[in-house]
Amino acid sequence: QILTADQHFREKHLDIEDVAQRLLTALGGSPSTAQLMYSGAVVVARELRPSAIMEMTKFKPAALITERGGWTSHTSILAREFKLPMASGIRNLDQTLAHGDTVVVDGINGQIILNPNLETIKQFHVLGTANIVCDDSQAENGRSTKTLDGTVIAIRANVDIPDAYQIAKNFGAEGIGLFRSESLIGQRGSIPSEDEQILAYRRLAELTGDGGLKIRTFDIGIGHFNETGFLGERNPALGLRSIRLSLSDSEHFRTQIRAILRAAAGQKIDIVLPMISGVSELVRSKEIIDEERAKLGNDGILFGNPKLGAMIEVPSAVLTANEIAQKVDFICLGTNDLVQYLLAVDRDNDSVADWYQTLHPAVIRAIDQVVKAANLAGIPVTVCGEMAGSAFYVPLLIGLGARDLSMNVNSIRHIRHLLSGIDISETTSLVDRVKACETAEETESLLRDHYLNNWSGLFPSGLLNSKHR
Ligand code: PEP
Ligand code: MG
Repeated sequence: QILTADQHFREKHLDIEDVAQRLLTALGGSPSTAQLMYSGAVVVARELRPSAIMEMTKFKPAALITERGGWTSHTSILAREFKLPMASGIRNLDQTLAHGDTVVVDGINGQIILNPNLETIKQFHVLGTANIVCDDSQAENGRSTKTLDGTVIAIRANVDIPDAYQIAKNFGAEGIGLFRSESLIGQRGSIPSEDEQILAYRRLAELTGDGGLKIRTFDIGIGHFNETGFLGERNPALGLRSIRLSLSDSEHFRTQIRAILRAAAGQKIDIVLPMISGVSELVRSKEIIDEERAKLGNDGILFGNPKLGAMIEVPSAVLTANEIAQKVDFICLGTNDLVQYLLAVDRDNDSVADWYQTLHPAVIRAIDQVVKAANLAGIPVTVCGEMAGSAFYVPLLIGLGARDLSMNVNSIRHIRHLLSGIDISETTSLVDRVKACETAEETESLLRDHYLNNWSGLFPSGLLNSKHR
């Protein structure tokens, strides 16, 4: 009785279902649930985990539809990395869709069209295959990205799988701006050893070369470790996670820091600490990093000197950004969590998706404050949330002073194309008008009008008709 009343325990039904399904499939002789799939299928599920996406991509599904999940959930982020159209937050799927139905998945608007007529199918086919006209002189590997007035914007990639970086590089990315190192933990749920981590980090760093590799330390919650996580945290997003978990379980953290320090020998690798809420976590982390560095030195083991950055994604970090900026070499602005924590809205919960407002005045003021704090301290700031890879928000970020964007691999080409057609002074005056808006809705229509009137040819088709809050 007590356990079933617990929200966290109730949410665990998915894990149990997942395990049960895997067991049944394995007993039936198949090694994985994904083997039930076939290429070109539209996968319909209540909820999908990032690990399921990884598994499923081998079978090349055409699209994904889920009942749960938000635009910035890790599953959606990964689906974009694999170029899989996805619509999440679609209700009552078991009543509306049946095996064999024809369905169009509109990944831009996050909607589905059931039993479309031929005309609609044709229309979406054209949309799906249409490539926006890209300025080839910019879209090439090795050339820097410049706005119309010649301002250089650094474009980096958020990459979880090494193979994706080669594509990103061909599209013109300069290094990896965010490697979510927890992707190494995968379905096993166990932390890779120091040597396994060194291999993985070196492999990525060799690919990124001078562009550099920013490794974010494990951004996981205690729930990742089933035995203890099962006891349940009422609010995992506010619980023992990210840097908090690293500092309270410092053995794992020390192993990871040692692996990064060692992999950084002769390589351009930086450390990023997630979910920093203030200066004291930085001070403690730096002590640990210094201790591990000293131990390696004493043992005569080769190591490098990674720069240290803090993710700013929690409101208290925004409010102390000036102090944080004094303690680090660079800042990474994590807009996915920033919106979640600033507006107190779960990024994975589609029932509150309307409250997840990237254009809320509070979010815009927070970004403004962080960019100013970094500029004042003379350190770079990389915007690495999904906002940085979404054409609708990029002119706003540029107008707010962002000059370094790290994004999903598949956003790179159209963001570079957009940037090459806009002028910094125009984005600055646009931001001045945005700052006078009182709501996300007002900002959205101001931006849309400006884009339609001035830059419509610079946006991917269909984007300006879809909702962007
Ligand atoms: C973010 O929070 O914006 C971010 C980049 O990290 P993640 O999406 O992994 O939380
Ligand atoms: Mg985050």
